[in-house]
Amino acid sequence: MKLLLNKPKKIIVTKPPKGGGTPPGRALLRQAFLALIIFFSLVSIYSFVRDSSKSVEEISLSSLAEEISLGNVISIAVVGDKLEITFRDSEEEKVSKKEAGTALTTTLKNYDVSPEALSKVDIEVKSDQGFLYWFASLAPIVLPIAFIVFFLWFLSRQVKGAGMQAFTFGQSKARMTHPDDKSQKVTFKDVAGCREAKEELREIVDFLKNPKKFLDIGARIPKGILLMGAPGTGKTLLARAVAGEAGVSFFSISGSEFVEMFVGVGASRVRDLFDLAKKAAPAIIFIDEIDAVGRVRGTGVGGGNDEREQTLNQILVELDGFEPNEKVIVMAATNRPDVLDPALLRPGRFDRRVTLDLPDRRDREEILLIHAREKPFAEDVNLVLIAERTPGFSGADLYSLMNEAAILAAREERGKVSQFDLIRSIEKVMLGPERKSHILSQKEKRLTAFHEAGHAVVASVLPYADPVHKISIISRGRAAGYVLKLPLEDRKLQSRKEFLDDIAVALGGYVVEKTIFDDLTTGPSNDLQVATALARDMVTKYGMSEKMGPIALEGVGGKPIFGLGVGDKEYSEKVGAEIDAEVSKIMNEAMKKVEKIIKDHRKVLDTIAARLIEVETIEQKEFEEMLVVHGITPKKKKDIEHQA
Ligand code: ADP
Ligand code: MG
Ligand code: ZN
Repeated sequence: MKLLLNKPKKIIVTKPPKGGGTPPGRALLRQAFLALIIFFSLVSIYSFVRDSSKSVEEISLSSLAEEISLGNVISIAVVGDKLEITFRDSEEEKVSKKEAGTALTTTLKNYDVSPEALSKVDIEVKSDQGFLYWFASLAPIVLPIAFIVFFLWFLSRQVKGAGMQAFTFGQSKARMTHPDDKSQKVTFKDVAGCREAKEELREIVDFLKNPKKFLDIGARIPKGILLMGAPGTGKTLLARAVAGEAGVSFFSISGSEFVEMFVGVGASRVRDLFDLAKKAAPAIIFIDEIDAVGRVRGTGVGGGNDEREQTLNQILVELDGFEPNEKVIVMAATNRPDVLDPALLRPGRFDRRVTLDLPDRRDREEILLIHAREKPFAEDVNLVLIAERTPGFSGADLYSLMNEAAILAAREERGKVSQFDLIRSIEKVMLGPERKSHILSQKEKRLTAFHEAGHAVVASVLPYADPVHKISIISRGRAAGYVLKLPLEDRKLQSRKEFLDDIAVALGGYVVEKTIFDDLTTGPSNDLQVATALARDMVTKYGMSEKMGPIALEGVGGKPIFGLGVGDKEYSEKVGAEIDAEVSKIMNEAMKKVEKIIKDHRKVLDTIAARLIEVETIEQKEFEEMLVVHGITPKKKKDIEHQA
């Protein structure tokens, strides 16, 4: 475990780089390498200083020979090829160089120095002290070692430290946030909306703060809390906020981090994590995306599932193994509660379940306000309007909207974020970035304009379809054009009539291509998928088909998938055929309806398409004016406030 529990007051290992800190073995190698480099630089500095410390006169060999013959030289020290000469009548030393590989006496004899003169000179051979000398004598020993060390170091980097990490495999990879860490602190103030969830969790905060109150009257404290909700609804954020409010240590790990390729690792990590948390109590353990390990057991094939099951079993064991007075609470989050193993949800384990819904209009406004805190806004910004225009956005979407707007403002060198930035960002978050470079040919442009106008007209005529906010033939993401529809109010339930109208609107583009252009393109393929999926859901999930009656043939969530991903159906081939027949009946009826609408409203369709070809984008106001001119009453927004 790399969590430095031995100095609990100051820890803050919130996000170690993937794979944890530097393994001890690698640190050692690195130090050895460093030491070698330092050693060599010291040696070279030493010899450099030593060489340059005394600047002495250099004389030639012939003048040396002459001086010796004259008897002026007392001694010569031979250091490698260098000669250091001491004279009789002068304090000063001089230097010279002899020919490499030849003895000094031989050389001098060649210069006609007589043996007698030479015998008066004291010749001393000293060992070489220079850098080259050191290098030459050490290299055969040091270089191979250095090479091996470097090789090992390189290797350990190559395998991402896997060799070294083998020793720390079973240890938990949890990140811990210490309560004193201000930079990481999140409280309920940072979480907008989620009122019921916060209410529910306040009790947990209360328990963590003063457990005695609860224990004294013999209350059993919940151990496991499961946060459920769509992606981006703030589950992770809320779990952090509970720890922040209670001021306790927060251990967070993702379900998938338990599972490695070796069997038994997950279970040992679970054990390790719970031990750590108990030592740091009071604490919260947060297992994010618990569905990665907590899926229903016994449905899979292959070894990977054995490992997952062992991990899950260990989690169950740990949950049961708490002492009643242990101040550790386990929180988990998932967006697939339907696939969780029932054993996890049993009383005494994750028996508290907190559901986080997508934010409604008022919550969206609050979330926007939270993320607007540190951003400078122009006066024209109206967050209420943005909240109205973003039904179906999650907290994470809103966060990203705010961020996109700030980026837009910065890119255009404006110091403040304007309303227009925010509005543009809504579409960017919803549909992906505009692709202005994606130029349509004249023919494609006309076809796309009619296609989108088809959706828009059908949506405006049918009573239960959402009103149109914007039509555009500028491609975005994967769509060639788009019609932005916004519900008049947030809806939690969807009725049969709404389903039917939505299917019809989705078919609008298809029918226009088929009837007006008398041909079909690949354009409506996504529309068809959406429409068919809606029709199928009506028949198999919601009992909205007269023929099939009140029967749910497919679960709302995913069922356990066997092996290679073939869903196991719970109905016969015969019923399957009946479903298909019902679905195609719904689709065909919808198409008839749309064909009639397109025929009856051909004029307005032509007008809209022509305008689209001209300006590419039509906003709600202009669109509604066109509708009124052609005798269609635009749908009116009901008073928004009544639902808030
Ligand atoms: P989840 O875990 O449910 O997928 P997160 O908690 O990771 O979602 O949320 C992602 C981000 O979205 C958060 O970091 C936060 O910035 C923002 N966010 C989501 N919900 C809220 C909320 N209710 N209030 C404020 N911000 C939110
Ligand atoms: Mg999350
Ligand atoms: Zn379409």
